Amino acid sequence: MTVGRPRMAMQSLAGYSPGKSAAQAEREHGIVDAIKLASNENPWEPLPEIVQAVQAAATGVNRYGDNASSDVRSAIANWLAIDPAQVTVGCGSSGVLQQLMLTYVDPGDRVVSPWSSFEIYPMFCNLFSAELVKVPLVDFRFDLDAVAAAVDERTKIVFLATPNNPTGTSVSTEAIDRLLRKVPTDVIVVVDEAYKEFNDPSFGDSVIDLVPHHRNVVVTRTFSKAYGLAGLRTGYGVGDPELIAMIERVRLAFSVNNLAQAASLAAIEHASKNQSRVDALVAERNRVSDALAGLGVPVVPSQANFVFIAIGEASERVALELEQRGLVVRPFGGFGIRITVGDASENDRVIDAMAQLSLG
Ligand SMILES: *Cc1c(COP(=O)(O)O)cnc(C)c1O
Repeated sequence: MTVGRPRMAMQSLAGYSPGKSAAQAEREHGIVDAIKLASNENPWEPLPEIVQAVQAAATGVNRYGDNASSDVRSAIANWLAIDPAQVTVGCGSSGVLQQLMLTYVDPGDRVVSPWSSFEIYPMFCNLFSAELVKVPLVDFRFDLDAVAAAVDERTKIVFLATPNNPTGTSVSTEAIDRLLRKVPTDVIVVVDEAYKEFNDPSFGDSVIDLVPHHRNVVVTRTFSKAYGLAGLRTGYGVGDPELIAMIERVRLAFSVNNLAQAASLAAIEHASKNQSRVDALVAERNRVSDALAGLGVPVVPSQANFVFIAIGEASERVALELEQRGLVVRPFGGFGIRITVGDASENDRVIDAMAQLSLG
């Protein structure tokens, strides 16, 4: 019998399923040297300067930290040449996305997103008893005209992940600007840029190109991926000061912990040093893409730190075969497989394995 009386929303809420760990795969298949390429994590530990900052902050964790993350907000504002009132820091950018849902979405409201996209959007919609309107991708890319057409009077939020997870495709700020001119100004358009650092700069910079011109746009970014801080998770949102103040009110107090704040400050301070790691991952991504394409694998050109191979119905089987070879990847049933870019030797293993497998 059910314990207590769960909310109606619990009936359709499966909970987040994190990618399988390497250790789990080793146990399941009786193998060694498994690696996890399933969660788009950075293969390298954070810069030593960041690790030192976290270590130094560890002795202070008997105290609650700064609830407003004031220093981090100022540092981000300074970094991006904007006002601190335009910045909110959250428990990962997922935390900021949750704050946006908590602020704007009532039961029965609609949220629009191109689909496939980030799996947290449908989870949040289930949690809030909202309806996610999924606008099909066209050739793995966003169809922003169709997104605009899907917005109606019940729509509160549009989510645009660019580069998109899981396809790795991007849209330009110009195209988003055109979308913003079509949708009502009381619909919040969220530009989820978790992979921004890996994106070709020619797609534009949302903070520069969009935020000054549209009060209803919010850009979310994170230190989890490019800065290797997934295990501490801090993210941030940039937008209109009134919107930022509003979404600050719903954030769980102290959810950006002391270590995460210290790490974020160090990450910003050493951002230019970190850039060489991002550049290396981008070069590896392009190498993997080219090698897979050379093998005849249908790989979607990626702007992120992962590649998507569009092998449809073969996805679950091929993902399992990769896992048996110690490569834990992320299948999207019937659609394709997302493979995180690792270090060079990890990527070599992916290329070798794909050369051996039958994708038909
Ligand atoms: C990984 C990811 C995030 C956020 O990660 P956080 O750790 O919560 O900052 C946000 N959006 C997309 C599309 C992602 O893939």
